[in-house]
Amino acid sequence: MENTKVVKFGGSSLADAGQFRKVADIVLSDPARRFVVASAPGKRFSGDTKVTDMLYNCYDLAVKGESFDKAFEAIEERFNSIINELGIELSLADEFANIKNAFAHRAGRDYAASRGEYLNSIVLAKFLGFDFIDPAGYIRFDEKGAFDLETTRSLLAPKLASSAHAVIPGFYGSMPNDTIKTFSRGGSDVTGSIVANAANAVIYENWTDVSGFLICDPRVVDNPKPITTITYRELRELAYMGAGVLHEDAIFPVRKAGIPINIKNTNHPEDRGTFIVAETAETSQYTITGIAGKKGFSVIQIEKDMMNAEVGFGRNVLRVLEKNGLCFEHMPSGIDTMSVVVNSESLIGKEKAIIDEINFRCHPDKLEIENNLALIAVVGRSMRKARGTAGRLFSALAHARVNVKMIDQGSSELNIIIGVEEEDFETATRAIYDMFVLPQEK
Ligand code: ADP
Ligand code: ASP
Ligand code: MG
Repeated sequence: MENTKVVKFGGSSLADAGQFRKVADIVLSDPARRFVVASAPGKRFSGDTKVTDMLYNCYDLAVKGESFDKAFEAIEERFNSIINELGIELSLADEFANIKNAFAHRAGRDYAASRGEYLNSIVLAKFLGFDFIDPAGYIRFDEKGAFDLETTRSLLAPKLASSAHAVIPGFYGSMPNDTIKTFSRGGSDVTGSIVANAANAVIYENWTDVSGFLICDPRVVDNPKPITTITYRELRELAYMGAGVLHEDAIFPVRKAGIPINIKNTNHPEDRGTFIVAETAETSQYTITGIAGKKGFSVIQIEKDMMNAEVGFGRNVLRVLEKNGLCFEHMPSGIDTMSVVVNSESLIGKEKAIIDEINFRCHPDKLEIENNLALIAVVGRSMRKARGTAGRLFSALAHARVNVKMIDQGSSELNIIIGVEEEDFETATRAIYDMFVLPQEK
């Protein structure tokens, strides 16, 4: 079929029977919505536990040799209540028994986690009257555990072509030895993108619990405006910096095939949502497209007079990081200074070795590591053309009394990254939002 749409529903969209009904209405209202990628049941209310986390906990008990019957019963109960409330003819008893048995035989943590999407998709397929396709046979990883798009496409495309309508569990595939492997958390987004690629879909609709990609995290700013259209490149910058709506690896398979993504709200299907596209002539409504940030960075500050004249200085510093297995996030530099920003977690246990080796190889005048840094990315394709963007940004931060510790303007002029103390993260994000978005609303 030429106009196939691939639709992915996140955990909150499939958390209970009421949500399943909304999903069925959405899917069945458009015959082009042929392939449905489903997550495991997510939180039904704040404070609830996602089935994926219940499975991890349960499996950890099994591995410790402790009884996991009770923990498993709670999982069975989540699925049984959906089945009963929907009134469908289906028993998962055999599936539950197989899974429990596999847990007892330590089938692997990834296998355990994947059962949430597996079971939920069986239920959804039954409810919709669609085929069920287990991605274990089609979504493949290579020996090193890297996702293999070529092999996957060659297996999955003919399988999809043979089905008029199907539900495919998100989050997992399998290794060359057929053991189950999951993507990282939130990975059903990646599955949706892979299925869209293999189905040559006209669009990949990603249904969630917000009306699109919002200008910034709704947990930091109240009611941020949705972004109407965003390019893959802008989105990648925001997703990488923690805008959690879409898994960052979900961009590559659709980008490669030129398939747009539409982020939509299961609870408000009438909202337009956000379109994620390759290119757009549409200028963004505001100078900036979005703001995202993360805590948990450290900066290695290096000072040395005449550093700029010393051939190989930067390379020597980076070699020390390489030797210690560290990637760097940003590296703003001045004439006599260089800062290397790294993820704090990756530094644990290595700080001393790194300081000693940089001192030994590079003889800096000053060398220190500062922790508790948050990075905030201000992203926008229109920033390049708008004069005074950086000026407005820094005056907003100065006004909010935020001390800016680092600045890095991406070479594409698509983003400006600033580093602030972790405790200033929320204040800084709100100040930037207020400066660029709020006044234009009036
Ligand atoms: P799903 O379970 O549907 O995959 P996620 O929880 O992974 O949903 O992603 C949606 C959530 O992402 C929203 O509920 C919101 O709290 C969070 N979020 C973080 N940053 C943003 C943003 N910039 N725009 C929209 N949502 C965001
Ligand atoms: N259920 C998995 C998770 O909680 C994958 C997903 O929801 O995308 O991470
Ligand atoms: Mg998600």
